[in-house]
Amino acid sequence: MPQPLPTLCGSIMGSPFSLSAKIHNAAYAALGLDYTFVCFGIEDPVAGVAAIRTLGVRGMNVSMPYKTVVMEHLDAIDESALVIGAVNTINNVDGVLTGYNTDYLGAVRALQEVCELNKQRVAVIGAGGAARAVVYGCLQAAARVTVFNRSSERGKVLSSDLGAHWGGGVETFAAQDFDIVINATSVGFKQPDSNPLDGLLASHLIVMDVAFMPVRTALLLQAAELGCRTVSGTRMLVHQACRQIELYTGMEAPIDIMEQAMLEEIQRLNL
Ligand code: NDP
Repeated sequence: MPQPLPTLCGSIMGSPFSLSAKIHNAAYAALGLDYTFVCFGIEDPVAGVAAIRTLGVRGMNVSMPYKTVVMEHLDAIDESALVIGAVNTINNVDGVLTGYNTDYLGAVRALQEVCELNKQRVAVIGAGGAARAVVYGCLQAAARVTVFNRSSERGKVLSSDLGAHWGGGVETFAAQDFDIVINATSVGFKQPDSNPLDGLLASHLIVMDVAFMPVRTALLLQAAELGCRTVSGTRMLVHQACRQIELYTGMEAPIDIMEQAMLEEIQRLNL
C-alpha cells in the first residue's frame, strides 16, 4: 500500500467541519506520532473511498451523509457496523479497508461512566443513524430498550431490526417507566433553546443527549436543574474518537487531551 509522509488520516463528509481534526491531531501529538488528520468535504463518497486506497490514507472517519453509502465499497465490515447499518470509521490495514461503527461504543462507554446498563430500562428518542448506534450499544450491554420517534414508520423499522420495543411518539414517553432516557434525535444540535423532552423529565432519570453543540444543551440543563444525573454528547463523541485512535494507531487514546481539544474547538466555534 502507498505510504504518505506523514501518515495521513482524515474524515469525509458533506461539508468540512473542524472538530474531528482538532481531536485527532491533539491525540497524535500527545502520542508522539508523525500523523496528520485532514477534513475533506466531498461530493463523491465512492471516489473518496478510492482515494483512501490510492493515497494510502491510514484511517478515514465517515460523517453524514455518507455513513451508509460507503459500506458496499469496503473490503470488510465489522459485525456491529453491519447490524447498525452505518460505518463511521474506515481502518486501512495493509490496503484492506474495514468499516467500523464507533458511535455505539462511544455511547456505551459514556453511559457506563455513570451507571450500569445491565437490565436498565432505557428510552431512546429518535430513529436515525445515531439512534441505531445507541440502541444497538444499549442492547449489547443487556439493557431493556424502548424506542420513541416522531415518524412511527422509521421507529418501528429500527425497533424490529435491532430487537428493541417500539414505544410510539415522544409525547407517549412516561418518565416513571424508565431509568435512563437518551435524546438521539437531531433536536438540540446547534439549537440551544430546543429540548425534545421539555416537561417530560423526572429527577430519578439518568439523561443523555447525543447533541454535542452546545455542550450543555437545553435538555441537559433542564435535567440538571431537576437533579438528574446527565451524560453529555461531547462525552460520547470523545469516547467514539478514542476507539478510532485505537484502530488507527494501535495505541491507547489520550482521552483527557482529546476532550480538552474538543471543548476548546466547540468554544472557538462559539456554541
Ligand atoms: P438523522 O437525520 O439520521 O435522524 C434524525 C432523527 O431526529 C430522526 O429520528 C428524526 O425523526 C428526528 N428529528 C429531526 N427533527 C425532529 C423534530 N423537529 N422533532 C422530532 N424529531 C426530529 O440524524 P443522525 O441520527 O445521524 O444524527 C442525530 C444527532 O446525533 C445529530 O445531532 C448528530 O450530530 C448527533 N450525533 C452525535 C454523536 C456523538 O458522538 N455525540 C455521534 C453521531 C451523531 P424522524 O425519523 O421522524 O424524521
